[in-house]
Amino acid sequence: MKIAIVGAGIIGVTTAWELVSEGHEVTVFERRGRRSQLRQRRRCRAGLRHAVGRTRHACQGAALAALLAWRLKLRWPLSSRDLGWMSRWQKACKLETYLANRARMQRLAFYSRTRLHEVTEARELSYERSDGYLVLLRSKREKKLIQPGLEVRRTAGSVFREVDADEARQIEPALNADTSLAGAIYLPEEEVANCRQFALLLKWEAEALGAQFHFNCDIAPLSRAAPTSLALASGSDALHFDAVIMCAGLASATLLRPLGLRIPIAPIYGHSVSAPVREPLNAPRSAIMDERYKVAISRLGQRVRVAGSAKIGGSLDAMNPAAVQTLYKVLHDWFPGAVTLQSGVQQWKDARPMLPDGPPVLGASGIPGVWLNLGHGSSGWALSCGSARVVADLVGGRDPGVDLEGLGVERLSL
Ligand SMILES: Cc1cc2nc3c(=O)[nH]c(=O)nc-3n(C[C@H](O)[C@H](O)[C@H](O)COP(=O)(O)OP(=O)(O)OC[C@H]3O[C@@H](n4cnc5c(N)ncnc54)[C@H](O)[C@@H]3O)c2cc1C
Repeated sequence: MKIAIVGAGIIGVTTAWELVSEGHEVTVFERRGRRSQLRQRRRCRAGLRHAVGRTRHACQGAALAALLAWRLKLRWPLSSRDLGWMSRWQKACKLETYLANRARMQRLAFYSRTRLHEVTEARELSYERSDGYLVLLRSKREKKLIQPGLEVRRTAGSVFREVDADEARQIEPALNADTSLAGAIYLPEEEVANCRQFALLLKWEAEALGAQFHFNCDIAPLSRAAPTSLALASGSDALHFDAVIMCAGLASATLLRPLGLRIPIAPIYGHSVSAPVREPLNAPRSAIMDERYKVAISRLGQRVRVAGSAKIGGSLDAMNPAAVQTLYKVLHDWFPGAVTLQSGVQQWKDARPMLPDGPPVLGASGIPGVWLNLGHGSSGWALSCGSARVVADLVGGRDPGVDLEGLGVERLSL
């Protein structure tokens, strides 16, 4: 089949690789230039290949309690899109809905991890990675609050251990002894890996198999008359394809709107800081998540990356100094002296393309020839390989290797 993919983020690249590996003729269109696309992919990821526990945006209890407990902050002005998103998000905050969505993401995350390992092994890809992930609990209250989430993990068959502070410090020996720690959840099978390096390697693999990547191509919204024909927003002759896969993150909603599809996707802004390791003995071995501040600290080769904050509203351009300060505070609390702040420090703000109930949308759009792989929110890297495999199977008319209940577009029209 002649297939077009819109968007060359991690989701577009993994999808391109799966499809070209099956012998399809694949063309990827990306509106950014080649270099800025690479920079963007590097920017905000903490590198965690771990989906659940990062689904802070749809959560238990009343929405207000959730706002406080999960540190999702509002930033004015809020657009009508943001307000609509929040109203749907509030509905998804019911405990049973939240737990069901967490379980769906967990399922996809497991599948994704298996697929990542298969692809890595088959193509002999080598990128920065490390095993194990600690969720740090500063107080007894946090230990109690995390229990419903652990129940979902248990049910889903996730491997984890509740450990005391001493054991946590053995797992991550550089943890600051002066910061109080009530305990931790240790996830030995979770991993940290360099999303940018993986995406670059897989793009090269896809190109070697014949996939074409076109940068600086801003695709116009799809047309109802010919949904599988693409033209540039600036005007161009339409190119015709047998299928179009929408992997354009946040922009997907605008691109799909003329087809009558309403995708309630909103940007949830986050910040990250990346700095060179100063003293390896003081740096994390793999990754931690500070449950109180919802800040992740991970080791990516010779750098430490700190990522966190979740804000709806405002704009991408304005960094939030308080959010960045929190990242430095948490880094200092747990790994003082790990990094050098004199040079080579990068600070970014980026948006998570988030659907109000949490999981992404995978599969048929309801419009013949148009397929969806979007809305991965906080977990695009963690869910990428599985999502791409699912979409490739569906496009090829095969049963995917994972249960897709609750991951289709039909749920969004409810
Ligand atoms: C602070 C922060 C930390 C994070 N940490 C993690 C983590 O540790 N683990 C994890 O799994 N996830 C993490 N994420 C989430 C992850 O970054 C996203 O889920 C992921 O980037 C989404 O990938 P995507 O390919 O769907 O979207 P994008 O990366 O946004 O890619 C979409 C692409 O489509 C292109 N595009 C848009 N419109 C058009 C058009 N009209 N024509 C052509 N191209 C177009 C865009 O330019 C873009 O390159 C984090 C996010 C943030 C903000």
